[in-house]
Amino acid sequence: MTASPTARTTASGTAAATGAGFDGTAASAAYRNALQVIGAVEPRIAEAIGAELADQRASLKLIASENYASPAVLLTMGNWLSDKYAEGTVGHRFYAGCQNVDTVEALAAEHARELFGAPYAYVQPHSGIDANLVAFWAVLAQKVELPALEQAGVRHVNELTDADWATLRRALGDQRMLGMSLDAGGHLTHGFRPNISGKMFEQSSYGTDPRTGLLDYAAVRARAKEFRPLILMAGYSAYPRRVDFAAMREIADEVGATLVVDMAHFAGLVAGKVFTGDFDPVPHAHVVTSTSHKSLRGPRGGFVLAQPEFADAVDRGCPMVLGGPLPQVMAAKAVAFAEARRPAFAAYAQAVVDNAVALADGLRRRGVRLVTDGTDNHLVLLDVSGFGLTGRQAESALLDAGIVTNRNAVPADPQGAWYTSGVRIGTPALTTRGFGAAEFDRVAELIAGVLGGTTPTTTSSGEPSRAKYTLADGLADRTRAAAAELVAAHPLYPGLDLG
Ligand SMILES: *Cc1c(COP(=O)(O)O)cnc(C)c1O
Repeated sequence: MTASPTARTTASGTAAATGAGFDGTAASAAYRNALQVIGAVEPRIAEAIGAELADQRASLKLIASENYASPAVLLTMGNWLSDKYAEGTVGHRFYAGCQNVDTVEALAAEHARELFGAPYAYVQPHSGIDANLVAFWAVLAQKVELPALEQAGVRHVNELTDADWATLRRALGDQRMLGMSLDAGGHLTHGFRPNISGKMFEQSSYGTDPRTGLLDYAAVRARAKEFRPLILMAGYSAYPRRVDFAAMREIADEVGATLVVDMAHFAGLVAGKVFTGDFDPVPHAHVVTSTSHKSLRGPRGGFVLAQPEFADAVDRGCPMVLGGPLPQVMAAKAVAFAEARRPAFAAYAQAVVDNAVALADGLRRRGVRLVTDGTDNHLVLLDVSGFGLTGRQAESALLDAGIVTNRNAVPADPQGAWYTSGVRIGTPALTTRGFGAAEFDRVAELIAGVLGGTTPTTTSSGEPSRAKYTLADGLADRTRAAAAELVAAHPLYPGLDLG
């Protein structure tokens, strides 16, 4: 049901429409002066900041979770808003003098509500993990704590007897979460043991159809009916397809679960109206969590959208699970959301998906196997086992050749979560630089060339190594030069000169 991407035309002139590379001229003097001020205290930090710009500019960045924020977003984060404590919510702070932070937070939340068509937005979470923790504790408060308080005839946990409090604490720790398995593309924060969510919830997973690699909604429903979770999680960090959130909500309703959608990876595609109707999580989920720095192209941070019944519980995120908000980052979120409400952002989001389709087509044509055989979002998951390589070898060989990716498990990965058989790549960052379909086809050619020219080293026992490899003579240098040429043709922050 999610397999067929809608017909898309790749607009020529996309680069111009999306504001390619973000003109950095106006920010040039500000950054030159700032680095001088910083350098006078700790020159090595000023140097590292400058070096990072150079590295970002030189890199063919295909990391699916990364992007480039605009100079406006970046500049908004470096100022005295940072010096203010503002625990609580707008108009209800635990500290005095928060009027400007109130303005900032209210504006960020208003932009988020308008951008996503959400009844309520909470912009304090410092990261995606924090947004999920806020959401999980809001659901626990609403579905477990509130009924317990009502039953005891009290309004506040402090009024419970010690015995009732002990019972409630056990109940809070005895809930279930159903989420997408890690090897199908789910995220560690969706109830997996190494993350605190796995210590809070009894977790069970749904996977993808082993034949097609696609989400199997009938299987999700069957698992949900058996497992009866409090929370049904949807969302992913390595699934290359759309998710039918209307279908997920139906399943949640059938089993009395709360649907929480983590759109950390694809929030930009929701904001840019590429994912609409059944594929837009906002109208269907009880609670939506997200990062702001991935495809959404804002500052590093998180946020939560919710239906009105969860709004009060989400508002308690700080100091429930969050430290004091970062006002400078909330301000930058407001700027990023304002940018995302402009028509140019919708063009950007569409270009991200068009480019991913071009990249997938280019790889497939050159013999690279893809999980689900393609994509309808911003990412492509390569199965490199056909080249006799592990994901780790492919990731390192590509990096040697100037191509930045990350290894990732594929469904039922025989190489496990460390070596893996996959490489995950995405288009948000290079699309921000103005890459179009032709450039991504060239990227596909470079990647396929590196994979085809990489051979695993044979270990002393005669087995192929899972980590070591050799690259064909001159391949790394040739690819590096080609990657550098592509990147040079699409400068990042043109006009930004640190002097
Ligand atoms: C990236 C990601 C997160 C975590 O975001 P951080 O800001 O790194 O904490 C959570 N959930 C999903 C699905 C993600 O992709």
